[in-house]
Amino acid sequence: MAGKKKPRFLLAVETSCDETSAAVLERGRILSNVILSQDEIHSPYGGVVPELASRQHIKSIDYVIGESLTQAGVGLGEIDLYAVTQGPGLIGSLLVGLTFAKGLAFYFKKPLIGVDHLQAHIEAPFLENDRIEFPVLALLVSGGHTSLYFLEKPLDYRLLGKTRDDAAGECLDKVAKFLKLGYPGGPVIERLARGGDSSRFHFSLPRMKTAGYDFSFSGLKTAALKIIRENGLSAEHPALRDFLASFEETVARALLENMHKALEEFRPASLILCGGVARNTRLRTRFSELAEGYRLPSYVPSPRLCTDNAGMVGALAWKKYQASPVTSTDLDLDAYPR
Ligand code: AMP
Ligand code: MG
Repeated sequence: MAGKKKPRFLLAVETSCDETSAAVLERGRILSNVILSQDEIHSPYGGVVPELASRQHIKSIDYVIGESLTQAGVGLGEIDLYAVTQGPGLIGSLLVGLTFAKGLAFYFKKPLIGVDHLQAHIEAPFLENDRIEFPVLALLVSGGHTSLYFLEKPLDYRLLGKTRDDAAGECLDKVAKFLKLGYPGGPVIERLARGGDSSRFHFSLPRMKTAGYDFSFSGLKTAALKIIRENGLSAEHPALRDFLASFEETVARALLENMHKALEEFRPASLILCGGVARNTRLRTRFSELAEGYRLPSYVPSPRLCTDNAGMVGALAWKKYQASPVTSTDLDLDAYPR
């Protein structure tokens, strides 16, 4: 099916949550990476509404794929490989991208590579830097996931810990929603916290009782809501800036505490921070301070590659293909929500 010609162009599709994205890569390098966000659609609800998300993917996917080909200057007939996010994510959203990509691959008789979208996030910094040394310790922080991975070598993912309840991004979004600050909460909190006193409010956090590397953010959310109520905080309150700065600082510290612990045990050669929340300046700063303390090189993707995007999905698919080429369209390829 794949023919004898070495593959050159790959088309990747990503629809795991609320971004419809398609990218064209040439030998693993991004030529185009089109991302259509659904923020405006979900904003009135203060969070992603799964049914609205999948319906919007159906409306957008044809345009997004067409635009990614136009921007790359590549015709659909020239695509040698297809890649798609299989999971985790919202099942209705995932199925839109998976079905579309499967249809294209089947029609053009090309291989289709399924990709785990959390692993793809870790691939993002490699698109901008080809000298990242292994072993790698990677912290992935997004709207739906908070996970710590150790990679002894490329494509060798060892999950050290993940959140037991809310993801860090979800915690930011929920607190912003409670304060009626807007959606998505992370960037709003970042903007409103600027210049605030991050030491003014103290959050008493329940300690995790296990020795592992799991995270928990529901306790922090509850502590934040308690402070908001006790101090009568609102969008207009003069102490809001200080509260948000303190909250943002606590989220950053809670995230990096686990990485710090794992660093001592696993002795990585490089550190990676990725996922939507990795756009946050305070978190990026604390992360590079941690790395500098250990004299380790640290990598954070540029903001556009932090968000869910098909470029990173294509990059991982390309690596997977190089490691073990698939030659057919697997029509049984299925989506998985978790
Ligand atoms: P993703 O799930 O990877 O698309 O990332 C979306 C999540 O990232 C949402 O929870 C956002 O609130 C969060 N986010 C985006 N930008 C920022 C930022 N500048 N600071 C903190 N969180 C952010
Ligand atoms: Mg998203």
